[in-house]
Amino acid sequence: MSDIQLLPATLNFLQRDHGQFINGEACPTSGTERIVVINPATEQSIGSVASATADQINTAVNAARQCFRSVWADFNPYARGLLLNRLADLIEANGEELAQLETLESGKNIVLSRLFVARQSALCLRYFAGWTTKISGQTLPSCFPSMQGEQYSAMTRREPVGVVAAIIPWNFSVMIACWKLAAALACGCTVVLKPSEFTPLALLRLVELIQEAGFPDGAVNLVNGAGDTGRQLIEHPSISKVSFTGSVATGHKVNLTAAARMTRCTLELGGKNTAALLKDADIDRAVGGLLQTGYIHQGQVCAAPERVLVHSSRLTELTDKLGAALAATPMGSPLNENMFFGPLSNRPHYDKVCHYLTIASRESRILSGGERQEGPGYYIKPAIVQAFSGTETLMQEETFGPILSFMAYEEEDELLDLINNTPFGLGTSLWTNNLSATMRMIPKIESGTVWVNMHTMVDPAVPFGGVKQSGMGREFGSAAIDEYTELKSVILCY
Ligand code: NAD
Repeated sequence: MSDIQLLPATLNFLQRDHGQFINGEACPTSGTERIVVINPATEQSIGSVASATADQINTAVNAARQCFRSVWADFNPYARGLLLNRLADLIEANGEELAQLETLESGKNIVLSRLFVARQSALCLRYFAGWTTKISGQTLPSCFPSMQGEQYSAMTRREPVGVVAAIIPWNFSVMIACWKLAAALACGCTVVLKPSEFTPLALLRLVELIQEAGFPDGAVNLVNGAGDTGRQLIEHPSISKVSFTGSVATGHKVNLTAAARMTRCTLELGGKNTAALLKDADIDRAVGGLLQTGYIHQGQVCAAPERVLVHSSRLTELTDKLGAALAATPMGSPLNENMFFGPLSNRPHYDKVCHYLTIASRESRILSGGERQEGPGYYIKPAIVQAFSGTETLMQEETFGPILSFMAYEEEDELLDLINNTPFGLGTSLWTNNLSATMRMIPKIESGTVWVNMHTMVDPAVPFGGVKQSGMGREFGSAAIDEYTELKSVILCY
């Protein structure tokens, strides 16, 4: 019942000097400032990385541009797929090391890190490996009249957009980077990654694996730094697309910076996602589902349900059963395989969640949990909050923490109003076996995804993204191929 042993490979990696990864090489020492990486479970430093200088950002984008122009855009599509599959193999083979690094820097439970770093990342890479040979345009009948016997034919081609700036948050660094890398590389784009300043380490190991897989130098580069590094990257004239995942506030800034250069931009932002339990909901199933999706990784999941709307006849049954389940679920070191809850991922975020708990105690009612744990580490007990109006702060603002707010409703129309009455629209779940109500409600829900009797699960074959303030554009499926390719029209006369 204690922490797992760290691999020698993990310990060696932590000992090394880290910085950027540019044109197939690690550039560890240059850079004036260093970012200290803190283990949120112990509040101890586990290493540091050099912040990229303006010169290094420029060199990284130029390397990506050179690789795009001279090698990658024309690389045989089948061979591109083979490389993506080889990277998936390497991620699986080195999955424990990657998972340990992600757990150490983010506080994610090691069992979850293994699942999301190795299995989900590899799944996404393999899915997009299959796309490389299937990216195609159309042949189109021409409308031009023939004046002197000439004929016309037209077609479209899907061509890679160019160099992609991929900006990554701290909650699932390797997996979210792989979502972007898989689709961008499959289309023939090259990439400059910018990890979160809180979680640079696992991604630095990932880019080494990309090199080992045999991708050409410059296909994937990485620059470290905080928001200003991201801004400089987006402002570079050779960036053709920004793929950003992060908060709404940063998303607004990113969108403005990209728009100033007319750069394409995909924004995967925050949410205030609803789980709606209809009168007939299976409460035991919903309790398991909320535990697994609402509180997993301490609620630091963009699509996690934060608001639970329950038919009034079932509210007490749900909160009582969930409260008992939470009380029986262990919290402790994320390196202990028997723990479920761990620390919040970093100090600023811990402070933000504490702030929302103070608001909850004032505006709403905390039914259980929410206590801060004494000692090192950013631990907060998972909380159940009862809300009495859809306008309370906890029903409107994303906490991104282990706090679910529960509110009763009576009628379907009232439920739909409550679901839609937020500035966000990422994901909503309906918990019911009432097919008529489900099919009636789905078109009326303002949300990028609607799940039924499940929540949060994302599938690389199914487009994922938000409406309203939750963003624009989609990851996954053919929608992602459209995001990373430009349509070129060709008209021939013969
Ligand atoms: P954040 O917005 O603080 O940071 C995200 C990234 O943007 C970091 O790499 C950061 O350094 C960079 N950045 C900051 N300022 C920038 C600027 N001006 N220009 C360019 N880059 C800049 O988000 P976070 O706290 O790391 O992540 C949590 C948020 O991400 C939550 O709101 C969560 O809902 C959201 N999220 C969304 C999805 C999704 O798919 N919709 C997935 C995961 C997380």
